Amino acid sequence: MTNTLLILPGDGIGPEVMAEVTRIIDWFGARRGLKFDVSEDLVGGAAYDVHGVPLADATMARAQQVDAVLLGAVGGPKYDSLDFSVKPERGLLRLRKEMDLFANLRPAQCFDALADFSSLKRDVVAGLDIMIVRELTSGVYFGEPRGIFEENGQRVGINTQRYTESEIDRVARAAFELARKRNNKVCSMEKANVMESGILWREVVQRVHDADYPDVELSHMYADAGGMQLCRWPKQFDVIVTDNLFGDLLSDVAAMLTGSLGMLPSASLGAPMANGRPKALYEPVHGSAPDIAGQGKANPCACILSFAMALRYSFDQGDEATRLEQAVEKVLADGVRTADLMQAEGATPVSTSGMGDAILAALDASL
Ligand code: NAD
Repeated sequence: MTNTLLILPGDGIGPEVMAEVTRIIDWFGARRGLKFDVSEDLVGGAAYDVHGVPLADATMARAQQVDAVLLGAVGGPKYDSLDFSVKPERGLLRLRKEMDLFANLRPAQCFDALADFSSLKRDVVAGLDIMIVRELTSGVYFGEPRGIFEENGQRVGINTQRYTESEIDRVARAAFELARKRNNKVCSMEKANVMESGILWREVVQRVHDADYPDVELSHMYADAGGMQLCRWPKQFDVIVTDNLFGDLLSDVAAMLTGSLGMLPSASLGAPMANGRPKALYEPVHGSAPDIAGQGKANPCACILSFAMALRYSFDQGDEATRLEQAVEKVLADGVRTADLMQAEGATPVSTSGMGDAILAALDASL
C-alpha cells in the first residue's frame, strides 16, 4: 500500500516547524524503508494570499484522498482584519468539517526531563501518558436552535446540546479501539446527573462496551469531578472519552499538566476510507506564534510528535512512532532545549533546525 501524505505548512512558525518534519519523513524513507508519497499545498493566510480563500477547493479535494493530512498552523496579525468568512482559521475548520473528523485525540504525555515545567508536583506528572478523545463535530457548538433572540423584552442567548446515538457510538468505538492499543482503560465523562444528553451518552458508551469491547475496563465520571481528578492524580487515567464542550475544557487542562505548548501534538480522525485507514488530520496544538515567527526559535517537537501520531494511527507503524517519540525523549533528557523549554538563565537554546538535527542524530543512534 502506498502512504500518501498532504503537508499544509500554513502561516507563521508553521512552515518552520514543518521543515523539520520533512527532514524526519525523509529519514524514515532513507533509513527505515518507509516511503511516503508527499504533496504540499497552502492553507490559512498563505492560501488567502494566493487564492483569496483560506482553503482552495482543489486542496480540499486532495485532503479527502490522502491517507493523512499534516498541518502546521494558521493565522497571524496580517489577517486579523479579514472578513470572518475568509479568516485563516476557516481553512482549518473547513478541513475538519468536510472530512467529518469526529474524534479529536489529544495526548497529554509528560516527558521526564520536562516534569518541572508543570504547575503540579513532579511526582504527580512525571511519566504521565493519557489520551483525551473529544467528540469534535456535534454537541453544543453545533446544535440547533442557537442564536441571540428577543424574549419578554430582553435578549436571550441560546445554544443546544444535542447528540444522536450514532454520534456517541462512533466516538466511543474510537476510544475503545485506542484503549486496546494502550493500557486498555476508558473513562467516559459527561454530566448525566443534570443533562439528558449525558444520560444518553452514558447509556450508549456502556452499550458499545458491553456488546463489542467487554475486555476494556470502562468507568464513568461526571465531567466536573473529572476536571478535579485530572489535577489531583492524572495518572489514574488511560483514555478519557467525552463530548465536544467538556473535551475542549478537559483537554486544555490535561495539556497544561505537561508544561509547554511547543510539545503538544494532536490528531483528528474520521470514518475509515476504502483502504481501511481513517480520514485523518494531524497538527500541533499551538498556533502560528507570530511573536517568534521567522526567527528560528520555534520548537518543532509538537509537529514532529504529530507526525509520530500519523505513523501510529494512519500508517500502522506503531514501532516506528515509538522510535520517534523515544528520540524526542532522549534529546530532552540530554538537555537539548529550544527557547520555550529553557529554565536556567544563561544557558543557550538551540534553534528550530538545531532541535531537528538533535532528533535526527537520536534517530540514527536508535538503529
Ligand atoms: P500561539 O499558540 O500561536 O502562541 C502562544 C504562545 O506560545 C506564544 O508566545 C508563542 O510564541 C508560544 N508558542 C506557540 N507555539 C510554540 C512553539 N512551537 N515553540 C515555541 N513557542 C511557541 O497562540 P496565539 O498567540 O494565541 O495565536 C497566534 C495565532 O495563531 C492567531 O492568529 C491564532 O488565531 C492562531 N492559532 C492557530 C491555531 C491553529 O492553527 N491550530 C491554534 C491556535 C491559534
